[in-house]
Amino acid sequence: MNLPTIALLATGGTIAGSATAATDTTGYVAAALGADALLAAVPAITTVARVRARQVYSIDSKDISSAHWLTLARAAQEALDDAAVAGVVITHGTDTLEETAVFLDRTLDCRHKPVVLTGAMRPATALSADGPMNLYDAVCAAAHPDSAGRGVLVCFNRLLLQGATVHKRHTSALDAFGPGEAGPAGHTGPVRYHAPAWQRPAPQALPRDAESLPRVDILHVGAGMPADLLEYAVQRGARGVILALPGNGSLPEPWHAPVARAVAAGVRVVRATRCGNGNVSAHHIDQQCGSTAAGPLTPAAARIALMLDLLADHC
Ligand code: ASP
Repeated sequence: MNLPTIALLATGGTIAGSATAATDTTGYVAAALGADALLAAVPAITTVARVRARQVYSIDSKDISSAHWLTLARAAQEALDDAAVAGVVITHGTDTLEETAVFLDRTLDCRHKPVVLTGAMRPATALSADGPMNLYDAVCAAAHPDSAGRGVLVCFNRLLLQGATVHKRHTSALDAFGPGEAGPAGHTGPVRYHAPAWQRPAPQALPRDAESLPRVDILHVGAGMPADLLEYAVQRGARGVILALPGNGSLPEPWHAPVARAVAAGVRVVRATRCGNGNVSAHHIDQQCGSTAAGPLTPAAARIALMLDLLADHC
């Protein structure tokens, strides 16, 4: 049978997690199993695609750094540029999967081939582990001709979500990922999309010699909290700060002067929302303090966008 070739890039996470008991879904070791073990658990994949597996690294995604994103982006682009490869699947820890998805969505040239990220909420050793089905669905999606031209996709719990807006919204549920306000791009079982693919902007090129990204911090702003942490972040060398603010990015009065001082010192300050959903619109406070509005981006996504902007400024 003439099956498409899918490149599987494994990075660790709970999908590769192992526990001593099948009933243990929290006290396990993430990133314990290799790509071959993940594939061996899903023999049905061989009826859908020829999978070429590569272990890019093995980590719990809570420990991911910008150096890991750069390594993964280079490995994924190499696979996409291979004429024999029809699509790419990446297995990843769920904790920071949304950051990796945004980073890859902005930097990979995947206009003609799909890239699908997946993971699991239960370790591979658990009763009713969700990883095998998620991996099977991700390979089906990456092998499907309708998946190209949609940017990086996240396949989870039978949903196909846009990597640019995906958000982990639950600590333990199998449907841990929310699609953002636009809703899911599609479903699996079988693969189907709710709208045609769209024209995508050109990806941001990564400098060959880049080993990390500029430092951008996120500060969650609670009611009545002083702006000391902003001043500290600036002192510690942050080149940008994302403020996860109440409501529509509402900047408390005591933060106005510290934000203006940070901006005057060359630090980019972005107003985002801690609401989890919705747009943060431009406001006259931005003219006054020099901040900008995150628009529809979550704090995590706004941070990746700003890191990439700062990287581009230095090229
Ligand atoms: N801590 C794990 C990780 O992000 C959680 C998971 O994969 O679900 O690697």
